[in-house]
Amino acid sequence: MPNTIRSKILIIEDDPGIRTFLRTTLASAGYDPIMVSNGASALDMVASHCPDCVLLDLGLPDMDGNEIIRSMRGWTRTPIIVISARSMEEDKAQALDLGADDYITKPFGAIELLARIRTALRHTRTTAENGEIALTGSYHVGDLTIDYRRHRVCVAGQDVHLTPNEFRIVALLGMHAGRVLTYRTMLRELWGPSANSDNKILRVHMASIRRKIEPTPSEPRYIFTEVGVGYRMAEGEEKY
Ligand code: CA
Repeated sequence: MPNTIRSKILIIEDDPGIRTFLRTTLASAGYDPIMVSNGASALDMVASHCPDCVLLDLGLPDMDGNEIIRSMRGWTRTPIIVISARSMEEDKAQALDLGADDYITKPFGAIELLARIRTALRHTRTTAENGEIALTGSYHVGDLTIDYRRHRVCVAGQDVHLTPNEFRIVALLGMHAGRVLTYRTMLRELWGPSANSDNKILRVHMASIRRKIEPTPSEPRYIFTEVGVGYRMAEGEEKY
């Protein structure tokens, strides 16, 4: 990815082999990688170097990576991509709920990593504009169009009749396309901090949404399930 200003990526990882892989992969893709191997120095580095994106290992020698997420989210929105050997659904949901933007399970390849970084950086650029998109813009992926202003969703040019709650769910995922939104995040965004924590309401709405927007609801192409974690809208493009 040729950048005129190279995006600075902070790698927080103690495994020397993975560090080397990450550094060479990022440098050859045109990024400016900087590295740190423990949690205490990591927080200093975030503050002093203002990276554009952080890659975070959860299993650090001096602290749990989740503590870094919690601490960073007290003062910065810098995107955090967790890279971890922990593959349990609860681990992913916990890191995402604490404010991580994405989660990649080790082992992973260069192509997947670079795609996730592009998504995270793109969201940094558009987050400030999301309010504007929500008022006037639209989102397009495949045959699906979300018209935020008119509160309409079309598939292949045909209006889809969503209920107000179904539209809010689709719109929320569209505004964060490419990212996993946890069940808890979605419930809080849609129904407020005191929302019922039962995921069932989301599953029921999603089944209905899929019947309306997906050509084959059992093999979704627009809204994917991250089992036990949440939902993710396929990446497309925003228009103003
Ligand atoms: Ca580690």
